[in-house]
Amino acid sequence: MDQSKEQRILNSVSYNAVKGDPESVLDCIDNYCSQKEWAMNVGDEKGVILDKVVEEADPTIALEFGTYVGYSAIRIARLLKPNARLLTIEFNPEFASIAREIIEIAGLSEKITIIEGHSQDIIPQLREKYQVDKVDFVFLDHWKERYCPDTILLEECGYLRKGSILLADNIVYPGAPDFIKYIRSHKSFDCTNYPSHLEYMKVEDAMEKAVYMG
Ligand code: SAM
Ligand code: MG
Repeated sequence: MDQSKEQRILNSVSYNAVKGDPESVLDCIDNYCSQKEWAMNVGDEKGVILDKVVEEADPTIALEFGTYVGYSAIRIARLLKPNARLLTIEFNPEFASIAREIIEIAGLSEKITIIEGHSQDIIPQLREKYQVDKVDFVFLDHWKERYCPDTILLEECGYLRKGSILLADNIVYPGAPDFIKYIRSHKSFDCTNYPSHLEYMKVEDAMEKAVYMG
């Protein structure tokens, strides 16, 4: 059977990256996806915004919706302090398995837990199954129609504390208008927009940061 694009990304990482070196894994994925085949990683340009927001949040518990092959999970986890962890949710079993291998090559398996399933099913289980009380940082990068309902679910389940930071990708392309309307009109969120470009393209895109004010 023909290999998938994601398998080819893994092959490139296995062949070219330095084991245990997250930066070399990120560089390898960025090189492959900018030169050979486009893929939906947050990428190096918006990745810098992601890095800054993770550093600002300095999370103990970080959460990600949409693991794909693990690129942003590696970006986030490489910045985590000792004893901090990232839980990342992915419903595609092939992507989850490839991400596991790439994260292992990056040497970050101990910091990252990949949870297989739909975000809407996993969120209500985070407290009992994954010992999550509050989340300090959330990266939203799954299918865009889930941004708004999953944010509401996070609030309803009581995972947000004063100062929890949400960062949403792809606010312009492909866009998440219902989420933007909800978050900007919600009195408990303080929002900032970061204009940028779609990963590996010249197409306009942006990220939105929303700080929960309690
Ligand atoms: N965050 C990744 C990165 O930057 O490296 C890219 C994530 S990709 C844009 C979106 C991923 O979300 C896909 O792998 C897709 O299978 C997954 N996904 C979409 N909707 C989901 C949902 N409701 N629950 C779990 N995973 C979902
Ligand atoms: Mg994205």
